[in-house]
Amino acid sequence: MNTAQTLGVEPTPLALLLLGRDADPASERGVDCPGDLPAASDPDLVERARAAKARLGDRVFVLGHHYQRDEVIQFADVTGDSFKLARDAAARPEAEYIVFCGVHFMAESADILTSDAQRVVLPDLAAGCSMADMATGEQVAEAWDVLTEAGVAADTVPVTYMNSSADIKAFTGRHGGTVCTSSNARRALEWAFAQRPEGAGRVLFLPDQHLGRNTAVRDLGMSLDDCVVYNPHRPNGGLTADQLRNARMILWRGHCSVHGRFSLDSVNEVRARIPGVQVLVHPECKHEVVSAADHVGSTEHIIRMLDAAPAGSKWAIGTELNLVRRLADRYAPEGKEIVFLDRTVCFCSTMNRIDLPHLVWALESLADGRVVNRIQVDTETERYAKVALERMLALP
Ligand code: SF4
Repeated sequence: MNTAQTLGVEPTPLALLLLGRDADPASERGVDCPGDLPAASDPDLVERARAAKARLGDRVFVLGHHYQRDEVIQFADVTGDSFKLARDAAARPEAEYIVFCGVHFMAESADILTSDAQRVVLPDLAAGCSMADMATGEQVAEAWDVLTEAGVAADTVPVTYMNSSADIKAFTGRHGGTVCTSSNARRALEWAFAQRPEGAGRVLFLPDQHLGRNTAVRDLGMSLDDCVVYNPHRPNGGLTADQLRNARMILWRGHCSVHGRFSLDSVNEVRARIPGVQVLVHPECKHEVVSAADHVGSTEHIIRMLDAAPAGSKWAIGTELNLVRRLADRYAPEGKEIVFLDRTVCFCSTMNRIDLPHLVWALESLADGRVVNRIQVDTETERYAKVALERMLALP
């Protein structure tokens, strides 16, 4: 018996599969890549990507998430966060193929929001999201049974972060809840609490405990004691029926492996190193980091703030490194000093799975008439996930 079993804790699945050719049906991860992937050392990769894209013309629309590598983002027709990209794809119905340079849950959302005639392609199926994988449909259904047993499910409104699988979005749609992004989490929570008589309701927030806690405490003025954490690896989530009844926010025990790395020490260290620096972090960071920061906001908010910052200002940014580096380069000529919040390198490893060889392979396959790595959400899941997404779009 190993230590985890001795403690009565289910071992957490590995964050990533080892490289190779295989797929993990129990999660959104996979490493299957049929056909021949160009060698990373091929000096013609940029030219090949350009040529394949030109052959496809308007039939292809390439989306690039802000956290993608430079070598990939240069081929994006549009860049943005996951929700903006899904909407951009829906606004291009003439594009037969949507190549999503991002991670699996984003490609799913694009498939849900685009027409049936459009096909969404993820260049590498191993580009999952460790946070999205922390809440599976089975685990969340089990948690709902626990809430029902405790007599609190009827008063609970589920709210899921965009960074979740289509299954979880569908669960939320089926149970009267909504999706949120890091930009509208406050409005989503206000909406959710307004669905129940004042003081009677609670929210089950999936899958990012930090975004849920930060929004409840910072934006809605709740106390940390109003929040409990549901651990899917413990019996009954590790909570008593009384704890569930007394909670206003039931936070799923999930986190982003990139933003979760920033610590209070990172904030203190950068303040000592760069006098006058302003610390700007994403709300997926831990509560102590967000509390110590000068500003908090979504990826789009971070970009807008840096854009509006005066020359000579100094910034330490707590979000994914590819984006921070790009912003540092973009604003250096304007005299804005932008550094990464932590001293250790912190890329999103799954975002980085989309590289030039995978993009070339996907584009050339499409140009040759082969649709590879298609992401397709089944009709029933899509129907309810859409309900939750449409509630988000209707938020005041
Ligand atoms: S940065 Fe975090 S939330 Fe975003 S894809 Fe990577 S692991 Fe998932």
